[in-house]
Amino acid sequence: MSLVNFPWPGGERRSIPALWLRDNCPCESCRVASTNEHRMLISSVPIDLEPVATTQVGDTVIVDWGDHVSRYSADWMAMIATQVARAHPMPRSWRAGFEPSRVDMAELDDRAATVAFLERFVTDGAAIITNTPTEPGSLVDIIRRWAPTLEVPFALVHDVFVDPAGYNIAHTAEALPPHNDMASRKHPPSGQVLHMLVNDADGGDSIIVDGFAVLAQLDEADLAVLSDVAVGFRQFSDTVETWATEPLVRRRSDGSFVSLRYSNQLLQPLDPANPTTASWYEAYHRLSTAMNDRANQTDFRLDGGDFLMLDAHRVLHGRAEFSPGTGQRHLQDVYFDSDDLRNELARLIGVER
Ligand SMILES: [Zn+2]
Repeated sequence: MSLVNFPWPGGERRSIPALWLRDNCPCESCRVASTNEHRMLISSVPIDLEPVATTQVGDTVIVDWGDHVSRYSADWMAMIATQVARAHPMPRSWRAGFEPSRVDMAELDDRAATVAFLERFVTDGAAIITNTPTEPGSLVDIIRRWAPTLEVPFALVHDVFVDPAGYNIAHTAEALPPHNDMASRKHPPSGQVLHMLVNDADGGDSIIVDGFAVLAQLDEADLAVLSDVAVGFRQFSDTVETWATEPLVRRRSDGSFVSLRYSNQLLQPLDPANPTTASWYEAYHRLSTAMNDRANQTDFRLDGGDFLMLDAHRVLHGRAEFSPGTGQRHLQDVYFDSDDLRNELARLIGVER
């Protein structure tokens, strides 16, 4: 592809692919000015496109493509450079000793306090609002300040208390190893709220794990097999079936992690005749050992009114066993998409239009 030597904001010149340049023409026939959407269709120009002539007038570069003329002002290129560099805050990994940020509900009427709180949620993957209302269902309006709720099979709002008729292990008083919810869906929710309404039972401390920090402790061979081999997860009730076969780990080409799927309770049997099963199990054993290593876990007690938000593709949650005879314990869950919250944060900070 032909490259065009072109001035880039900041002063230096860059070799820019001709198709990129043509695709980013700012004119009104190529863009919808009011929404800054593309109108130009890349397939409407030849793949071996080359400029006929390039001239500069003041701070504007004019490229003549033969059948079209593009004018790239310095202001336009500065906006493009901002878009190219756009990124969400990076995760900050943690292990034992980490304490999720806590903010009082009343402070979140303030925009700056809200921005600071959401930034800590995005970087840490976990944060707690204290002194929230404890009426059942109140979690929905709280999370909807920043992100729509995400409805999944079973229910919009999930009640977690001891229920002999419950459809999963959360409805017992047993300890729950760290997991993320809905591993049995191809797209598990990427955000989860755990809202404690009342916690008068002995035990039952909450446990959270930075799953990406755990994955970073595995070697490349283990990560490769956990990224390649799809395994089944299932959760069901009398009226609902959920089942998906997906790999535990998703990574980008630069090796950074997209998501971890981990649920000891919902894992389905792998085919023992498959030659990858043995190596998968060794990698899974090392992952599970690290996941349940106290050095990777942080724990704390959620009291009534505590509202724990998790970046659920990254941070896993569990709980210690509790004594149901000693008092009531009632938690509600609702899901959301962490992307929506990240982007609401970006909007609150101020996104360039
Ligand atoms: Zn144009």
